[in-house]
Amino acid sequence: MLVFKFGGASVKDAKSVRNVAKILERYQNEQILVVVSAMGKTTNLMESLVDAYINQKDFNSILDEVKSFHRNIIKDLIGDNSQQFYEVENLLIELECALDTDMLSNGYDFVYDQIVPYGELISTRIISHFLNENDITNRWLDARNFVVTSSHHRRARVDWDTTKNLISKRAKKLIEKQLTITQGFIGRTIDNTTSTLGREGSDYSAAIFAFCLDAASVTIWKDVPGVMNGDPKLLDDTTLLPDISFKEAIELAYYGASVIHPKTIQPLLKKSIPLYVRSFVDEHAPGTIVQDHGLQNVVEVPCYIVKDNQVMLSLSSKDFAFIVEDNLSHIFSALASSGIQINLMQNTAISFTICVNNDAMRIDKFLSIIGDTYLIEKTEKLQLLTVFNPASDSNLSSIGEGKKQILEHRTQNALQVILQ
Ligand code: ASP
Ligand code: MG
Repeated sequence: MLVFKFGGASVKDAKSVRNVAKILERYQNEQILVVVSAMGKTTNLMESLVDAYINQKDFNSILDEVKSFHRNIIKDLIGDNSQQFYEVENLLIELECALDTDMLSNGYDFVYDQIVPYGELISTRIISHFLNENDITNRWLDARNFVVTSSHHRRARVDWDTTKNLISKRAKKLIEKQLTITQGFIGRTIDNTTSTLGREGSDYSAAIFAFCLDAASVTIWKDVPGVMNGDPKLLDDTTLLPDISFKEAIELAYYGASVIHPKTIQPLLKKSIPLYVRSFVDEHAPGTIVQDHGLQNVVEVPCYIVKDNQVMLSLSSKDFAFIVEDNLSHIFSALASSGIQINLMQNTAISFTICVNNDAMRIDKFLSIIGDTYLIEKTEKLQLLTVFNPASDSNLSSIGEGKKQILEHRTQNALQVILQ
């Protein structure tokens, strides 16, 4: 059994949906579960719908955009019969009804999860219908009947026991019989409301299903040839990484590589299910395989990861006292309670420096906890460049050119610099 995942870019318009059909046609003899995201940039559009709803602004023009975007794709795919495409029309009515309901007292995260998933519900209905019309017989499956989560809306955690039970007992039989299309990103809480797994969570959904189905592999179809050693938009000479270990994939995701959603690896690692990252543009190209190599490193070239919009916070003690254990534990507990993730840290005798994402709310909270105890220097608009697996004479490549390097940090397998 195989799990395929098609992201927003791979189903952004009618032409892309036809391309998905062409790829699936080649796998008619396999048992496949296809996990699909919302089309193109729909999730961003749905988020602006939520924002308008929350702020009690007029959201009708955004709603119209959601409708016309999908109706145009349907028209292009199905032609004149598209008027009768009730499955999508019904979802659009449901969405409208949801927006008519007063959910404000339930808070932003709850509202988000009742609105944004329509992107995935609609895209899978369109794709499933189009495939059926083109003799790629398939069944549409509501992921919410199988992926059961906690009620932490917008960042729901999977209830593995229940989910595994439902998928292995119920979904598996269906997938064995017929090609199955389902949604990424969404699930259902124990008390039966829709939940989501976090932005870009469809890769994770594919991994959840693969784990529970004991799938032979997961394939993520993308608009790039596979996992590259850097962002081709930023670097001249990027090269494909044909083989990566699970450990390296986790490290790359940790340093900020965006190709694979960080949570995706863990379920696959547990069952040694290989992950293929392949191009939907050139479906015959080999792509990348991420697989179990234990603790061995298999990536042979340096990998470049850039994080923009970074903030550097340097804390020093007011009386030149050493930054010792007591201070560090105070600083770390303040970081944890403000929900800040550290991208780089360095300490000297009298100072402690971290580089973090520019999340004003979290940083303010952190500073309000520790502000009186330390002298704090804050520098904004920085870039963090990580060279993973740097060559011994590693330079910073063209990315760092013309920028001032304000901090350098080396570990055994990574070189990190903060650039201004
Ligand atoms: N549609 C969701 C998003 O754009 C989930 C995903 O694409 O993985 O974040
Ligand atoms: Mg997406």
